[in-house]
Amino acid sequence: MNGFVEEMKNLKQALQNVMEHSPDAVVIAGHEKILYVNEIGLKLFHAASMAEMDSRTLVDFVHPNDHQAVKERIKRVMNGEVTDFMPFVLIRVDGTPLEVEMKGIPTFFNHQAAQHILIRDMTERKKTQTLLLNSEKLTIAGQLAAGIAHEVRNPLTAIKGFIKLLEAQLENKTYFDIIHSEMDRIELILSELLVLAKPQDLKFQKEKMSTLIEEVKALIDTQANMNNVQIDLLNECGDVSLQCDKNQLKQVFINFLKNSMEAMPDGGNITIEIKKCTDEKVKILIKDSGNGIPPHLLQRIGEPFFTTKESGTGLGVMISKQIIENHHGCVNFWSDEDGTLIEVIFPLG
Ligand code: ADP
Ligand code: MG
Repeated sequence: MNGFVEEMKNLKQALQNVMEHSPDAVVIAGHEKILYVNEIGLKLFHAASMAEMDSRTLVDFVHPNDHQAVKERIKRVMNGEVTDFMPFVLIRVDGTPLEVEMKGIPTFFNHQAAQHILIRDMTERKKTQTLLLNSEKLTIAGQLAAGIAHEVRNPLTAIKGFIKLLEAQLENKTYFDIIHSEMDRIELILSELLVLAKPQDLKFQKEKMSTLIEEVKALIDTQANMNNVQIDLLNECGDVSLQCDKNQLKQVFINFLKNSMEAMPDGGNITIEIKKCTDEKVKILIKDSGNGIPPHLLQRIGEPFFTTKESGTGLGVMISKQIIENHHGCVNFWSDEDGTLIEVIFPLG
């Protein structure tokens, strides 16, 4: 008999160890109250100790929108059913929400029917899913772009020609301004899309960074002047050059500078800095004094077709990001109401 009691004790200890060291958060709850939470669980709930969870029910930590579903789950587990992982929003001890999923397994705790609940943080998985979804969207947008741009350009050229002919023949030219400006808009979108369609015939050559940016500046300066925008160029690293497709990189800087100018309808300043960050990397900083990107939109920058402008295409940043990636570089955005800072980093070579 003693041997049996000893064995049961050992088993109990072993089970406790399993729960304590489980990589998932484990909660044991009775019909209502939470009875036990393991270390990982306390961390997940942002609780310092079990005392903060004691005498509360699991439902107390569930977002009101999920109350019904979680209650129904609890009922099923208490009736002896093992339930699958289900997503819900957990409200932690400090009131902050967390997306999690939970699985319930019927068990016994201190001689009473109870539920063994496994809870997993979904944040990382959600992030990966969003990333995957975004790159999926990018690929689809790229493929569509290649097809659409080529197919639409030819008939569009024909239509433009015939409209010119029509205009010359008609007395009443009322609607032609609108037709022309809408045509221009279609062409603008097509030309942006065509950049996406092109990467097959990239020409990588050694180019001087400062020359490349000076050429872009020269291209943009007239328009900048008209908009009361002053562009300053600071080159801290002389003749640094990198292996790149010149036209594509120009496209990147034109896109960013255009955005900066559009963020300053009443004029302002843009500073472009070329810096060598290490022997292997060059950094280009573009800083504007525009109206900035609100924090909740900052993460959406670069999504295909994401724009806050009435006549925007939402393709500029996305295309630029893709070009930068093709050059093994990276880009970061910082923004507040005083302006936006864009950092582009390329490996040298
Ligand atoms: P578009 O310029 O056609 O809107 P983009 O992809 O170039 O498309 O830019 C997407 C969005 O990012 C813009 O609509 C704007 O809201 C935001 N944005 C990008 N750059 C800046 C900037 N320098 N200042 C403020 N907002 C910016
Ligand atoms: Mg743009």
